Amino acid sequence: MSLGVAVDLGTANTVTYVRGRGVVVDEPSAIAINRRDGGIVAVGTAAKQMQGRTPGHLEVLCPLEDGTVANLIACEKMLRVFLRRVSERRWWRPRVVVCVPSRATELGRHAVQEAAEFAGARKPVHLIEEPVAAAIGTGMPIGSALGNLVVDVGGGTTEVAVLSLGGVVASASVRIAGNHFDQAIMAFCRKEYGLGIGQGTAEYVKSRYVCAWPLRKEGCVDIRGVDQATGSPKTITVSTVELREAIEEPVSGICDAVRDTLEATPPELVADASNQGLVLTGGGALLLGLDRRFAYELGFPVRVAREPRHSVVRGAAAYLETF
Ligand code: ADP
Ligand code: MG
Repeated sequence: MSLGVAVDLGTANTVTYVRGRGVVVDEPSAIAINRRDGGIVAVGTAAKQMQGRTPGHLEVLCPLEDGTVANLIACEKMLRVFLRRVSERRWWRPRVVVCVPSRATELGRHAVQEAAEFAGARKPVHLIEEPVAAAIGTGMPIGSALGNLVVDVGGGTTEVAVLSLGGVVASASVRIAGNHFDQAIMAFCRKEYGLGIGQGTAEYVKSRYVCAWPLRKEGCVDIRGVDQATGSPKTITVSTVELREAIEEPVSGICDAVRDTLEATPPELVADASNQGLVLTGGGALLLGLDRRFAYELGFPVRVAREPRHSVVRGAAAYLETF
């Protein structure tokens, strides 16, 4: 049997998975290009590190926006480099399945297929809807008629989906996700303390110290940045309570989106989902306390998928094996 590759082409991160080897690539969806000759300077983590630091002739591109291909040529180039890491053999065209958002248009789906084909995938390139892949990847019984509720909190968008009998019954997508938590933390530091920080710092603070649910022992965090008035380095000390308040708006925005989706779902399925509970996936699901906050807001059990950043790609890989 030939090797199959599953690809989760996310707005923030691209992940590839090969059966027997596991995750091969897990890097930012970014590519650095030389404007003079169009040559690839770096991809993934290396490209991301160049962002905001490039001389005039270099350009860092993020080929995906809101889960869909925004720059086809850049996407093809990036994917080609990532697929090469699976195998160096140039003539080898692997079977590939790529995940797409369930709201992706015909055009959007086609763009993904084209990018994968150019990048070296065998035709036809298979597509799988992200919530379906996420549900398979988290071991939900999606073949059953029970309503399965999946919430994927990514970098730029959160996808909410109710699945039944192997398909998507209702879904919604909101442009509030992980990046908005970072932006909320940056805005908070600027407004309340006159401190300028970069997104990298905000993301670091978020993943280490911010909890969306009250902690038994609240604490304090030092944040280093630049004094906006003087331009000199400055460190502030903030409490975890303040940080929670700082991300309140995006957190409640996501909760509202889940509620709206449930309102548009057949009541029988909502009843099933409320018994079975909701599964949180995507990198944003790693935000501490998000599960408890959701459980509180929605009134039903919430669990975070095991390795939520890889649920989608694992599910897609399992799907590829059924061919
Ligand atoms: P996408 O599918 O859009 O590419 P991912 O599922 O890879 O996105 O999730 C990316 C988001 O997850 C980013 O906003 C990142 O900051 C966030 N994230 C990653 N790890 C953590 C963590 N430990 N705590 C909170 N957020 C995290
Ligand atoms: Mg994703």
